[in-house]
Amino acid sequence: MTAPARTRSSAELIRAEEPVLAHNYHPLPVVVARAEGVRVEDVEGRRYLDLLAGYSALNFGHRHPALIEAAHRQLDRLTLTSRAFHNDRLAGFAERLAALTGTDMVLPMNTGAEAVESGIKVARKWAYDVKGVPDDRATIVVAADNFHGRTTTIVGFSTDETARRGFGPFAPGFRIVPYNDLAALEEAVDDTTAAVLIEPIQGEAGVIVPDDGYLAGVRELTRRAGCLFMADEIQSGLGRTGRTLAVEHESVVPDVVLLGKALGGGIVPVSAVVGRREVLGVLHPGEHGSTFGGNPLAAAVGTAVVELLETGEFQRRAEELGAVLRDGLAALTGKGVVAFRARGLWAGVDVDPALGTGREVSERLMREGVLVKDTHGSTIRIARR
Ligand SMILES: *Cc1c(COP(=O)(O)O)cnc(C)c1O
Repeated sequence: MTAPARTRSSAELIRAEEPVLAHNYHPLPVVVARAEGVRVEDVEGRRYLDLLAGYSALNFGHRHPALIEAAHRQLDRLTLTSRAFHNDRLAGFAERLAALTGTDMVLPMNTGAEAVESGIKVARKWAYDVKGVPDDRATIVVAADNFHGRTTTIVGFSTDETARRGFGPFAPGFRIVPYNDLAALEEAVDDTTAAVLIEPIQGEAGVIVPDDGYLAGVRELTRRAGCLFMADEIQSGLGRTGRTLAVEHESVVPDVVLLGKALGGGIVPVSAVVGRREVLGVLHPGEHGSTFGGNPLAAAVGTAVVELLETGEFQRRAEELGAVLRDGLAALTGKGVVAFRARGLWAGVDVDPALGTGREVSERLMREGVLVKDTHGSTIRIARR
């Protein structure tokens, strides 16, 4: 018999994973057992500053008291109904989230990838029902170096060979253009285009911030072409960049916004597709669904997340602390930092390859009590509460 988990050391727990856990991740060798705010603690009681923030799933830090309280209250009343019945938390969540994001309608889902899949379905349905694209001809234009999740459809339009190789055949109907290139986008859009799907800032690619004017250009181009602008704000949204949505930096309003990660407050997976009634209204009963999407626990936590964002405190804080982060990184440029890109409390940092790979730098920072994650090559990514 194996010993109970709490009696095992970090090293023993890491070794225990190897034979029983699929090897689809290569985590840093730290075993987290407790957390609060920006601090996490490992099995041995060593404390770390969390500068990953769960890839933006922890925009309010670990176990924010208001979110934990909302979850506890809901756990004591009702946790799941399925959408076969109404539940008393969903209307309020949808109203508050629509108001926060300045739109009319919400399609609640669970994970980010599901929000992306749902957004693709909505865009295609809209193309056939509203735009009049011939059956099965709809196309969606995406950007190179995108990250939108891990389903077979989504990795099918990834340009990351590691994410794709071995998982085909893939769904057709996607066109890939370089990111931050309006001329290439213009070229790719035609009468069959349902939507342009992009990240306002490419997170996994290394926190790539497009040129000023790019997002406004995408908005203008999609309006002219009569297709939807679908912004994947799963990582960039909900306070991360100093605004509720990253598109607000260019005062842009997309037709469809995909949300996830922080929407679940670091407690439960909660995602959503939000957009205008003319777009999300294309779905009718039976055409799309999810057993867990919009469940009362998710709705209660999601509502508490929206309440935190309604105060504007987290957006302000991300902007103010983001300036400190930028100054710090600027001071390190030429002293180990080759280049960096930052917006709000979010940065991609290209470390001098002579200091090691992103992975090696992350491991060294871990030994100094700071948790970050590498992306590609010698780039690390920083996101904190
Ligand atoms: C994380 C992420 C996703 C996928 O979310 P999951 O919850 O992991 O499925 C999609 N898009 C972006 C931009 C993301 O950062």
